[in-house]
Amino acid sequence: MNMITNHLPTAELQALDAAHHMHPFSNQKELADRGARVITRASGVTLTDSEGNEILDAMAGLWCVNIGYGRDELADVAARQMRELPYYNTFFMTTHAPVIALSAKLAELAPGDLNHVFYAGSGSEANDTNIRMVRHYWSAKGKPEKKIIISRQNAYHGSTLGGASLGGMIPMHQQGGLPIPDVHHIPQPNWWAEGGDMSPEEFGLARAQELEKAIEELGEDRVAAFIAEPIQGAGGVIVPPETYFPEIQRICDKYDILLIADEVICGFGRTGNWFGSQTVGWKPHIMTIAKGLSSGYAPIGGSIVCDEVAEVVGATEFNHGYTYSGHPVAAAVALENLRILEEENIIGHVRDVAAPYLKKKWESLTDHPLVGEAKIVGMMGSIALTPNKEARAPFAADAGTVGLICRENCFANNLVMRHVGDRMIISPPLVMQPDEIDTLIERATRALDQTYERIK
Ligand code: PLP
Repeated sequence: MNMITNHLPTAELQALDAAHHMHPFSNQKELADRGARVITRASGVTLTDSEGNEILDAMAGLWCVNIGYGRDELADVAARQMRELPYYNTFFMTTHAPVIALSAKLAELAPGDLNHVFYAGSGSEANDTNIRMVRHYWSAKGKPEKKIIISRQNAYHGSTLGGASLGGMIPMHQQGGLPIPDVHHIPQPNWWAEGGDMSPEEFGLARAQELEKAIEELGEDRVAAFIAEPIQGAGGVIVPPETYFPEIQRICDKYDILLIADEVICGFGRTGNWFGSQTVGWKPHIMTIAKGLSSGYAPIGGSIVCDEVAEVVGATEFNHGYTYSGHPVAAAVALENLRILEEENIIGHVRDVAAPYLKKKWESLTDHPLVGEAKIVGMMGSIALTPNKEARAPFAADAGTVGLICRENCFANNLVMRHVGDRMIISPPLVMQPDEIDTLIERATRALDQTYERIK
């Protein structure tokens, strides 16, 4: 345990936490009643809590600890950078070595002419940047009326006003009067829940064509951009049918709009390539990055921008920026994380070892009576829990409850797996080894069995 907590028993920490710490996406009353689990340290793919339990983290924190926990190299780089230059900003014609090196590295890794990086402290902030950047871009090109951004229902693009507006999460829109004006949502490519009698291929095409319909209805001269996650993460790891992204690309090529790939989860190896856009065959003008950029060791996000957009936006002063844009410690940590990803061939490990093994095991979960479809791309996967596999039925009256029961059973079996409604989702560290995948599947199966027993 660390200096702050090592003298306090768990119950006392939980009481202080509930009294003074407002948690994101949590019910504070429930926290006060039950107490949060106190995580004290982590190594590899395993968390340890204040009671000494060792928990397999099949979510890599919040989809971010791609290289695994406990890499001293990142701690050493952070300490060195803090001693040398703990902070300086990148406003007003100043810069520093870590941000220069990171930007050059990202330009090298990103596909095509995505050669320029605007930094933020998180994925949400980066998506706010994107809204301002694409509107400024069209305005600078003499088309200020091109302001609308098309997104998708059940997408997640962050929690700031802009990010939550781009996202298509109704419960988020309901709190705070969102979305902001000039954001439009089209239906998502979730075949399991919404595909009806169509084949996945037909449905993928139909849902992609919703984009064309929206552009035509809203008017090409009013649409600034389309944003999508290559694979929806927080929406439940929704893997689109194979027909979806080629059709999206065809439509995007036809109209004069910018494409934003939100790579906050999919970036940095999660889907078996450096970026999820490469996995689904999509060519964005801007990519949102965060999470795996530093493997979560330091808060950093950004937008990687193509030559044309960067040139137009940079031709006049862009009145936008964050105190921590290109923070030197975060940049140095991110650079070291990229070095480890590259030199240890972690994406090769995903492609050749971890993902094929996990896919085989994960898909075998459909033998369980509770599990309908199992979807997985690289190291992000989901299973749909259902009372009727044939009908692809949800647990109607109390949707979400069965997933919640299953998540609690996972916790009780020392496994972190999240639920989104009736879907259970995983996104483990990319460095996970086959024996750890076996443990993941064993614990998940036990949690599913216990859930089945409970609701039978
Ligand atoms: N975009 C996507 C696709 C995300 O999954 C997330 C977070 O989960 C965000 C944006 C927001 O990132 P952050 O939580 O760093 O603000």
